[in-house]
Amino acid sequence: MAETETTSPEETEQVAANVAADLRPGDVVLVAGELGSGKTTFVRGACRSLGVTDAVTSPTFTIGHRYHGRVPVSHLDLYRFTQLSHAEWGDLEPYFDDAVAFVEWPEAGAGILPAPRVRVHMRHSGDDRRAISIERADTRV
Ligand code: ADP
Ligand code: MG
Repeated sequence: MAETETTSPEETEQVAANVAADLRPGDVVLVAGELGSGKTTFVRGACRSLGVTDAVTSPTFTIGHRYHGRVPVSHLDLYRFTQLSHAEWGDLEPYFDDAVAFVEWPEAGAGILPAPRVRVHMRHSGDDRRAISIERADTRV
């Protein structure tokens, strides 16, 4: 587990870019943390480093976005779910197919989402400071 602290959105994007350098299709990245802690900012930085040039915005009012970078990239937000049902998972599964998938508010997917490659947890630590913990799975599943 690595922990780091950033002092600007740009710095968070850079941390995310470093994490993303190692990702490939099939990898799932869970990005947890309270509202405004920087989850979407983190995903934006990761997407940039995966070659996504589209605007990366919060999918809060849709379930997910699919971007085209050097590899396919998906960005989901489970904010509106309390616990995913198997039927709902069936609708979401295509986002995980052959893509690097980032999931904001992943708690609702516990027990249903594929095992993550990386778990990120973000929290406010004053003004523009954010504490970011990054936990990588040892092996790909
Ligand atoms: P979330 O998706 O967790 O709700 P967002 O990434 O949408 O969070 O928003 C984070 C907000 O905090 C943005 O307005 C961003 O500019 C601001 N911010 C300030 N400092 C940081 C930082 N160090 N890292 C990330 N975001 C930051
Ligand atoms: Mg968000």
